[in-house]
Amino acid sequence: VSLLVVGSIAYDSIETPYDKIDNALGGSAVYVSIAASYYSQPVSVVGVVGGDFKQEHIDILKNHNVDLGGLKIVKDAETFRWAGKYHDDMNNRDSLSTELNVFAEFNPVIPEQYRRSEYLLLGNIDPVLQLRVLDQLDNPAFIVLDTMDFWIKGKKTELMEVLKKVDMVIINDSEAKLLAEEPNLIKAAARIMQMGPKYLVIKKGEHGALLFNGDKIFSAAAYPLSEVFDPTGAGDTFAGGLVGYLHKTRDLSFENMKKAVISGSTMASFCVQKFSTKGLENLDAQQIDKRYNEFIELTKIND
Ligand code: AMP
Repeated sequence: VSLLVVGSIAYDSIETPYDKIDNALGGSAVYVSIAASYYSQPVSVVGVVGGDFKQEHIDILKNHNVDLGGLKIVKDAETFRWAGKYHDDMNNRDSLSTELNVFAEFNPVIPEQYRRSEYLLLGNIDPVLQLRVLDQLDNPAFIVLDTMDFWIKGKKTELMEVLKKVDMVIINDSEAKLLAEEPNLIKAAARIMQMGPKYLVIKKGEHGALLFNGDKIFSAAAYPLSEVFDPTGAGDTFAGGLVGYLHKTRDLSFENMKKAVISGSTMASFCVQKFSTKGLENLDAQQIDKRYNEFIELTKIND
């Protein structure tokens, strides 16, 4: 095993200006692993669900060759639930509720066969759990961390400990400013890299993403979509595409990371076109390549 994903597995209730859906498959580990599976298989997941988690959702992951050897099912408890409502512009959302359920008692145990994973994506979960995961791993080559405002506000001290131990952080612009306590994005980026990670990706929603490494910056465009149905999971999907690409190519140069960022953007653009994980479920390599090339064309100048 060499690409390990730890994160939430959820039932989401989502409201957008277009539609409303209850108990849809979601969670950081779900979006990450499906997106990464288009680049590199198998992706192994460590996570927890309740007895209410449906077989059809396990099957969606299995269909993408996601290895669920690290999935814990707690029969008499409920799966993590999150509810969110998007504003009219779809760029902002309010978390309406976060019910940790099985996550409240979750103690991630990394199965023996995953401990030597080379690439690790620490999805958006409690930083205390992220630290426990790191303690069990045998020196991974590359560790990517995803987090969100909920943890930056609630568990900052623990999150700072995690930051010291990871290679790359992926967060959105408002979270970067919150974490760095700095309104200027470039200064915020420098401050976050001082907290530990050598690489930083700041996602700017429909405006693309920035990749930082020391003094180097790469700006990736966003795919111009006239209809965004559901942005839920776009960030996790971006992270999944990025880490899947890095794992497939095993090249950690800055030039290759640019391609990884475009791969992440490519997968995120598919994710937002349908509700829940539907936009990611039935893609093929040709579609992915085509969109990747469209991204390249977007900012290419021929002279
Ligand atoms: P994203 O849109 O990429 O930020 O991720 C949305 C996903 O994160 C949803 O599917 C939620 O189930 C999950 N999520 C929301 N809040 C949390 C949280 N506090 N901890 C872990 N996962 C969460």
